[in-house]
Order: sequence, then C-alpha cells, then structure tokens
Amino acid sequence: MTTDEQISDAIVLFGASGDLARRKLFPALQRLAEQDRLPDTVVGIGRSAWGDDELRAHAGSMLPKDTDGQRRAADRLVGSLRYVQGDYGARATYERLVTTLEGRHHPLLYLAIPPSVFETVVAGLAEAGLHERGRVVIEKPFGRDLASAQRLNRCLLDHFDESRVFRIDHFLGKEEVLDLLVLRFANVFLEPVWNRQYIDHVQITMAEDFGVEGRGGFYDEVGALRDVVQNHLLQLLTLVAMEPPSSSDAAALRDERSKVLRAMPPLEPAQVVRGQVAGYRDEAGVAPDSQAETFVALRAHIDSWRWAGVPFFIRAGKNLPVTATEVMVEFVRPPRLFFAREDAPAPHPNHLVFQVKPDERLGLSVQIKEPGDDLFSRKVELAYRYDEQQDGVRDDAYARLLGDAMEGDQRLFARADSVEESWRIVAPVLERPPPVETYPAGSWGPPAAADLLQGHGVWHDPRTGGP
Ligand code: NDP
Repeated sequence: MTTDEQISDAIVLFGASGDLARRKLFPALQRLAEQDRLPDTVVGIGRSAWGDDELRAHAGSMLPKDTDGQRRAADRLVGSLRYVQGDYGARATYERLVTTLEGRHHPLLYLAIPPSVFETVVAGLAEAGLHERGRVVIEKPFGRDLASAQRLNRCLLDHFDESRVFRIDHFLGKEEVLDLLVLRFANVFLEPVWNRQYIDHVQITMAEDFGVEGRGGFYDEVGALRDVVQNHLLQLLTLVAMEPPSSSDAAALRDERSKVLRAMPPLEPAQVVRGQVAGYRDEAGVAPDSQAETFVALRAHIDSWRWAGVPFFIRAGKNLPVTATEVMVEFVRPPRLFFAREDAPAPHPNHLVFQVKPDERLGLSVQIKEPGDDLFSRKVELAYRYDEQQDGVRDDAYARLLGDAMEGDQRLFARADSVEESWRIVAPVLERPPPVETYPAGSWGPPAAADLLQGHGVWHDPRTGGP
C-alpha cells in the first residue's frame, strides 16, 4: 500500500479505441467512479484520428446506465476524458501526453495495446520522464515464451522500478479466486490437512462450451497452453499450494506464490495431452494445417515438503460440454470404509470445490448417514453460493485491479520472477509439443486426457458436482 499523496491522480489508457477498453476497462473505470475513486483526468491515447469529443462519445455509448448511480458515474467518467492522438514511435506523442497531464503527478499508464508495441511505448514513456512518477500496467500475454518474457522484463526494468510495474492477470482480481486465499489463511481447520498426507490430488479446470468465436487468427498463434494455462491457471495453482505468508503485504504474498512455481519441475511433454476440436481448421483465420491446441490437459508436480507426490491436474479447452472454471481438491480415502455398500461403488472421497464459473460456489463434499435402518453413508455437499445481492459480487476484477494499481498495491499482480518461472515450467511443451488429437465438440477433449489421472479417479464434472 502507499500513502494518499501517491495514489494515481490520472489514468492513461493506451489503446482506448480497442476491444479490451470497450468490454472491460471503460466499465471498470465507471465502477471506480461509482465508488468515488476515479481521478478527474482519464486520458485515452491512440493512433485513431479522434479528439476529446469522439473519445467521450465512444466511451459514453458503451457504459451501462440502468441505475442513477451508473448514470452519474458514466457522466463523471465521460467528463474526465481527454484524448491524445499520435504514433507510439514518435516523441511528440509523449510530449503531448506530458502536456495533457500537467499538474498530475502519478499517472497510471495502462497498456491495452498489442504486445508488439509494448516495448516501444515503455521506451517512449521513459524518454518523456514518466517512468519516474508513473505506474505501468502491462496486459497479457506477457511474452510468448521464456526468452520473450525475459526480454520484456528487461525492457520494463531498464526503465521502471519493479514497484512501478503491474503485470495484470485479471483472474487474480476475481472474488472467488481471492476467497481461496482467505479461506486457506483465515481459518485454522484446513492447515493440518492441506498437504500430501491428506490430499490425494488437485484438479483445476477451465472449460468453455464455445469456440474461438471469430478470433481464430488470434487464437491460432496462441493455443490453450499459452492463452490460459501459463498465466491464469498456474496463478490459481499458486494460491492453492502456497505456504502461509509471513504477512499479507505484497512482498510476502508474491514471495510465496513465486516459491511454488520455483518448486515445479518443467512439464514433461509425456504428461501433457493436446487436443483440437473437430472443425477448428475451417474457422476464419486458422491455418488449414494448424497444430494449435484448443484443449490441453496436464499433470504437474510441486517438489516441496508439503506437496511431493501430489499430482496437480490442469485442463482447459474450448467447445467442451460446459462453461466452468473450478479448483477441486480431493482428499485421500478414509483408511477403512465401514459404511460402504458392498453392491455399490466405494464412497467418493471428500473434496473441496471452489467454483469460479458459472456458479460462484464453495462446496465441501462429506459423507453423512443415509436415512434408514442401515448404517450406510451417502455424499452431500455443504455449499455456500455467492449471492450478488447479499455479497455485492459482480464481475469487478478489472475495477479491483485498477484500483489496486492506482494505490500502488501489487499483491494481486505478477512479479517478474514468477512470470518467468511459469514460462520455464511450460517451455518443454512449447518446444516439443505432443501431437494434437482431434475431439468432437461437446466432449471433454481427447480420451487420453482421462488416462493422465491414472490411480487418482476421474475428472470432476462441474455440472454434477461429482465424478
Ligand atoms: P485491439 O487489437 O483491439 O487493439 C487495441 C488498440 O491498440 C486498437 O484499438 C488500436 O488503437 C491500437 N493498435 C492496434 N494495433 C496496433 C499497432 N500495430 N500499433 C499500435 N497500436 C495498435 O486489442 P485488445 O483491446 O483486444 O487488447 C489490448 C491488449 O489487451 C492486448 O495486449 C491483449 O492481448 C490484451 N488482452 C485483451 C483481451 C480482450 O478481451 N480483448 C483480454 C485479455 C488481454 P488505435 O488504432 O486507436 O491506435
């Protein structure tokens, strides 16, 4: 955290005319206005031949105005907008930006632009002196592989101090993801069982029941491993596996997350299954002989005292049977099954589910007595469903992270070392990718994905809450 004087007093949005700005960033800024946290200067910057009026009309047309609060916030945001037009390679662009920011001391510089221009903009900002007083937010993807991530880190850290760099992963701003952190460390009952003695394995699933939706050109260059595993799902894994931090400050939290990644050996391609949904190659922008994976499943390990021998299974994919994101922690079986029916499958071991999508839900499966004269057990789930009315849960990840970045709070942002560690972990698969196997739309990917679990049951089905 930082002192009030250092809270960002202006926001600069590179790529204000783009898709991310439209879908996520302007609504997040509106939310900050609703919370009375929006600075009075928000500068959009880009090549589009716009002026202040065009930017205001553009932003104003896309903001929700269902409530009085939203209408007031939209007016306030639109009134704060200024536009700077220019080429990112030209010094004059940054000079105009500095003039527009006159009287503002700590701008938040949000790079919502294609990664190919990150380095040019970082250098331009530094040349204009904004590296000494601004904070820079970098969007994903942070590199394409270890070498490009290291290069981008070098470029950033040549100009900005690490305390001024905010590598955004919006997953870490989600309410239910943060609840994982709170549940683990605000309660005492989990800690004694949160280890290799009591946990059989962990499953992390990010499933989408839709395809590339017209973004074939983008997706074909990336694939599922780069798009969501290297960043979102490995970050989620760090929250499941991290040791208790020495405090709740950014350095302590980021140290522990980073230590998890450091303890992970690089993925063996033999532990990875890649799939491609049938018909993907017919999508616009996709190469006819594309080898990009629209599905990936893998078995990862953490060679630490706590986790040695516990597999972490991750799968992500498109055109799967459901849209769901969840973490499922499966405990070991009790040593004796006193209450199992002989004529039925063995009772399912306890599991704890954090579902981020579609229901925001926390569930613990337990065995209780089946009603009747006999002593048999049955599975029930003790569940807490987040309630938008009661809990105020909204898709506020970007607003939360923007607000944090404005305050200089880096707890939910990735540090240079952890980004590089996660690229190191996936590197062998990028270098020696196993062949893609075709799977039909609406299935759970290639059958080989099920084989990865050998000895650890089956993949959890987010639809039924069971195996
Ligand atoms: P866009 O392709 O919509 O580009 C954003 C803006 O950048 C454009 O409106 C354009 O503005 C400018 N721009 C485009 N190409 C160039 C170029 N070659 N040189 C200079 N400026 C250019 O991107 P998105 O908004 O989709 O994404 C922005 C960033 O956010 C990217 O890094 C992306 O990976 C990341 N991201 C996007 C997500 C999304 O859902 N869209 C999700 C997560 C991350 P102008 O012409 O006015 O200069």
